[in-house]
Amino acid sequence: MADPHGFRKHTRAEPAHRPVPLRLMDFREVYEDAPGGQIQQQATRCMDCGVPFCHEGCPLGNIIPEWNDLVRQNRWKEAYDRLHATNNFPEFTGRLCPAPCEGACVLAINDEAVTIKNVELAIAEKGFEEGWVTPVAPSFDTGQSVAVVGSGPAGLAAAQQLTRAGHRVTVYERDDRIGGLMRYGVPDYKMENRFIDRRIEQMAAEGTTFRTGVSPTAQDLARFDAVVLATGTPLPRELPAEGRDLEGVHQAMDYLPLQNRVNEGDTDRPQVSAAGKKVVIIGGGDTGIDCFGTALRQGAASVTQFDIRPPAPKVRAASTPWPTFPLVWRTATAHEEGEYIITGNESAEEIEALGLATRAPGDTLGGRVFSANTVEFLGSEGTLTGLRCVEIEVIDGVRTPVPGSEFEFEADLVFIALGFTGAERGGLVHELGVAFDDRGRMVRDEQYRASVKPLAPGFRPKVYVAGDNGRGQSLIVWAIAEGRAAAAAVDADLMGETALPVAVTPSTVPLGV
Ligand SMILES: Cc1cc2nc3c(=O)[nH]c(=O)nc-3n(C[C@H](O)[C@H](O)[C@H](O)COP(=O)(O)OP(=O)(O)OC[C@H]3O[C@@H](n4cnc5c(N)ncnc54)[C@H](O)[C@@H]3O)c2cc1C
Ligand code: SF4
Repeated sequence: MADPHGFRKHTRAEPAHRPVPLRLMDFREVYEDAPGGQIQQQATRCMDCGVPFCHEGCPLGNIIPEWNDLVRQNRWKEAYDRLHATNNFPEFTGRLCPAPCEGACVLAINDEAVTIKNVELAIAEKGFEEGWVTPVAPSFDTGQSVAVVGSGPAGLAAAQQLTRAGHRVTVYERDDRIGGLMRYGVPDYKMENRFIDRRIEQMAAEGTTFRTGVSPTAQDLARFDAVVLATGTPLPRELPAEGRDLEGVHQAMDYLPLQNRVNEGDTDRPQVSAAGKKVVIIGGGDTGIDCFGTALRQGAASVTQFDIRPPAPKVRAASTPWPTFPLVWRTATAHEEGEYIITGNESAEEIEALGLATRAPGDTLGGRVFSANTVEFLGSEGTLTGLRCVEIEVIDGVRTPVPGSEFEFEADLVFIALGFTGAERGGLVHELGVAFDDRGRMVRDEQYRASVKPLAPGFRPKVYVAGDNGRGQSLIVWAIAEGRAAAAAVDADLMGETALPVAVTPSTVPLGV
């Protein structure tokens, strides 16, 4: 039984962030370790509310109050077991999840939510520190083989569940390393890649086979008993404005992975660097925010993020009542960095790292512009020099340019971060004849089975779809939830029954995000 008074004794507290000038000099994670006792104190704020909506907010169905209470009682190993019963990779979600569970926390009705995500991360890290994360090898071999195509969180979750269920699983990844967007996309200052590597070590020791640098053909996959496609949604949304082909205009995903590769030690410097540049990011979402933090670390002269939407309200908007994920003003750690005010007392090292050579004390490093739409990329001799924009207002729910509001904005590097339009259709997907819906997603039934018409006659394995390629651009927590559920569907089809858990179906809609 939880402490029903914990939330009255303790206010919400989170680990501190490393000082801005310090953290902008590297790509290590932003957060300091939580001070001793903070996590247990925060877990104590979970109040045994009786009807915990946080379960519903979490797509994995994490049994949050149970592990909160176990942490409160210092029963970390039991908390670790309880958490891993519903989440294969809490060290990923503990770092990267936007925590829809917290938006649904009963305490959040009239107080600040329990720091669920931080408790989750602390349990996961305790598991690694204490040596509890050991291979969970299957106790028997079903003799059935499964190919998982794509090694993002959906593919990894499916692979781990299926390997542990006794199947022979091979993960194919066309990139040179495992991890999907968590490896090449998410900046290392949000999650360092060593945290992916240590989980892959566990999976390999459990018996999952990994093949990197391979984009398998239908013929390669024909020998398997089942195939799970977890190939993501890599197709970026374009901004087809005049001047798009000017030098200096890039898609966000042609930029972010380059820095990941530098951090991996593959190259010394990225082919596209923001060092000394006036950077504009078009798109107010998370991918744009990741460009923001990366450009600051590369020493940009300035960074500005353009958002077509108006600023979010300071308190939860009436359109997103509890327990849904709140529309509310957020300051990401990258924005916090942008708000850093130059003191003039920065060290020579900091001046170089922060790109301060041309900046005056009192300036900030970056900022956000709202209700702005880019209508043209401006250039000279084929090279970007700026943007022509227009202010936007919402009239009867329709975004409308404000007459006479056009303005120009100087820029010599632009990143387009407008989301993704869907899954790729060529190569293997074409060979398998995978059906798509009108939103660019692969069609699947309620058991994650794809609708396929293989070009080669006699292609035997059933094909399943899990993650962003079926759901559309989403979140790591959803990808893990889908991977786990698709594994259960595969297991049931191969064995006639399954004990693997299912928290979401393809048609489950988010309560939170
Ligand atoms: C820049 C960025 C930052 C993000 N930050 C966050 C965040 O902080 N928190 C969060 O929750 N979500 C975040 N997301 C979203 C999250 O990363 C995705 O929702 C999630 O990774 C989807 O997982 P997935 O397994 O479906 O696909 P992906 O992670 O996209 O993985 C798909 C994998 O399949 C591989 N592949 C594709 N086709 C083939 C083929 N034919 N053969 C072999 N391999 C193939 C790809 O190379 C890739 O590795 C972010 C997304 C981006 C772009
Ligand atoms: S995975 Fe995300 S939604 Fe689920 S408990 Fe963790 S932070 Fe909350």
